[in-house]
Amino acid sequence: QLVMASEKEAALAVTPSDSPTIFDKIISREIPHHVVYEDDKVLAFRDIRPQGPIHILVIPKVKDGLTGLSKAEERHIDILGRLLYVAKLVAKQEGLDDGFRIVINDGPQGCQAVYHIHVHVIGGRQMNWPPG
Ligand code: IMP
Repeated sequence: QLVMASEKEAALAVTPSDSPTIFDKIISREIPHHVVYEDDKVLAFRDIRPQGPIHILVIPKVKDGLTGLSKAEERHIDILGRLLYVAKLVAKQEGLDDGFRIVINDGPQGCQAVYHIHVHVIGGRQMNWPPG
């Protein structure tokens, strides 16, 4: 597999689709990963290219068409709430008591590279605003 120079290049090289993603292999344990939280609906694991001392991804175990936030339907309201709640739980678990950043990238302009919705929890350093 090509090693991309940047997250932006990786994102722009991907065609948005509902095809299986690398996250399916993480859910099924086909590839190793560091789980920090799991329940019957949600998995949270460390990002392979962390953008801060703490960088965790929170994903639904069943994608159900939710490739990204822009594809959300009313039936997804419960899982969307759960993803954010778990983001809060892992932030607490990781000791991010002084704050953290939640990100959901959507589509090519949003630099989305993996089309299985995921909430980034990034912390352990001072964030900047506006984001890049
Ligand atoms: P996106 O740009 O919002 O789609 O974020 C995708 C994220 O998935 C990036 O931060 C990647 O570093 C991360 N990622 C891609 N493959 C893996 C993996 O195999 N394990 C953990 N994180 C991954």
